[in-house]
Amino acid sequence: MNTSKEIISQILKGELSGKLYDKTKPHSSHFHILQEADNYLESLKLNHFISKCEERSNRDQKKVNIYCINYGLCEKNNILWGKHEGRDYRTYFIERPFNYTKIILQQISEIKIIKCKGCGRIFSENKKVGLEFTGYKCPTCHEDVEETTKQDDSVVNDLRIDCELPQISKDELTILLELNNRTDFIQAKEFAGDVDINSHRLGKICKKMDEDKGLVSRKMYVTPYENI
Ligand SMILES: [Zn+2]
Repeated sequence: MNTSKEIISQILKGELSGKLYDKTKPHSSHFHILQEADNYLESLKLNHFISKCEERSNRDQKKVNIYCINYGLCEKNNILWGKHEGRDYRTYFIERPFNYTKIILQQISEIKIIKCKGCGRIFSENKKVGLEFTGYKCPTCHEDVEETTKQDDSVVNDLRIDCELPQISKDELTILLELNNRTDFIQAKEFAGDVDINSHRLGKICKKMDEDKGLVSRKMYVTPYENI
């Protein structure tokens, strides 16, 4: 929601230039995300905050799902719903500013998880009152229960993503998303800063993703290898 508003202000300020962005009608009611991250949107979909409109390929030939934000929500937040008619605007919501994949993953990584250190039981937010009553002791195994912001590799597993997705760690996902934004091969050291992983480790992860999971391609005839 805030991103959609931010895009409006970028259009108004002329920061997003290009003939598609119309200052008089800064539409931003829709957005797209990479299909591989689609599972993260389940709860938003269930609560009718957003609904899926169509599946397309974006400029980088990646499969994406386009979503629209609930009409009422848009009205409330002064987000202009819809987009211009016509051929030129067919790609409007699959333009890069409307790729919300990263933002959504960022928010996921900031989700607080309440988890028992002993048996690993995960508690929902509404169990907090009860836990406060027991001094944050797990009712199952009596060990300590802690609330953590998930920043580590286990986030993907904890959220129990659909099993059809390859099991990937949060670092791998971050790397994939970064590579998805690019159209050319790139050396690990060139995008290490963008993903906040040191280039040595980054190279290792990419190698693993290529050899074990087939998620990354590496150019083998250059040194150091480049990834896409
Ligand atoms: Zn426990």
